[in-house]
Amino acid sequence: MSDPPASIHEFDVSLICAYFAALERQGPGSPAVTVQALDFVDNLSAASRIADIGCGTGGQTMVLAAHTPARITGIDLFPDFIDRFNANSRTHGVHDRVTGRVGSMDDLPFAEAELDLIWSEGAIYNIGFARGINEWRRFLKPGGFLAVSEASWFTRERPEEIDRYWRAAYPEIDLVSTKVGQLEQAGYVPVAAFVLPEACWTDHFYAPQAAAQERFLRTHAGSEAAAELVAAQRHEAELYQKYKQFYGYAFYIGKKL
Ligand code: SAH
Repeated sequence: MSDPPASIHEFDVSLICAYFAALERQGPGSPAVTVQALDFVDNLSAASRIADIGCGTGGQTMVLAAHTPARITGIDLFPDFIDRFNANSRTHGVHDRVTGRVGSMDDLPFAEAELDLIWSEGAIYNIGFARGINEWRRFLKPGGFLAVSEASWFTRERPEEIDRYWRAAYPEIDLVSTKVGQLEQAGYVPVAAFVLPEACWTDHFYAPQAAAQERFLRTHAGSEAAAELVAAQRHEAELYQKYKQFYGYAFYIGKKL
């Protein structure tokens, strides 16, 4: 029997960037869900400062920009994503207050208590949820908000196949209730936690990939790594279809005490 396809985490970073740069989103989510999460955040004005951490090409950042007058800084590790982010911000006519910067979420370029809102969709897993919410807190003003989406278990029991897959990909995946507890522990009032609808995975994440995969395979014809990356993404999408009642993403919104 052949080995199961590798997880995305085992691929070359530049290949992953090339694959995802062509997509509007690099993780599960949707404009409607971004707006829904933003509705829990009070008191944003033109004087407010928002950071979107692990912003990717800025799909969700442009939605934030359309719904708040605040100044937004997007931070991502990968320069290609930031180039696209800044092009996006110009296309949307918001480049005077929405700027992408290359940087790492473990070394953020903000001052203590500078931010009114820290946003992060599908990215905090790169340093881990518990570490991220604890380390980022000092950049928030008292009363400031944190809104992050994160892979989460929906049930206490689950089939072995999906349990093993996620423990290898992201061992910090956990129950929604556990993550809400971690928010409290880190000094946030848990304002809301909600599960993202399935369409955030199917219509907004996997469907656009299906079209992009054909183009990617043509561009990287003959590359075994590219073929394996596509196989891994298809495997992930199949697992989602099979096991979506057991896991998905949840949004967590906390207010700094
Ligand atoms: N928020 C976007 C992208 C999510 S994918 C969306 O929802 O579409 C995760 C993002 O985290 C990628 O863009 C990746 O480049 C970025 N990333 C990974 N490690 C990072 C780090 N250490 N610091 C900042 N960004 C990082």
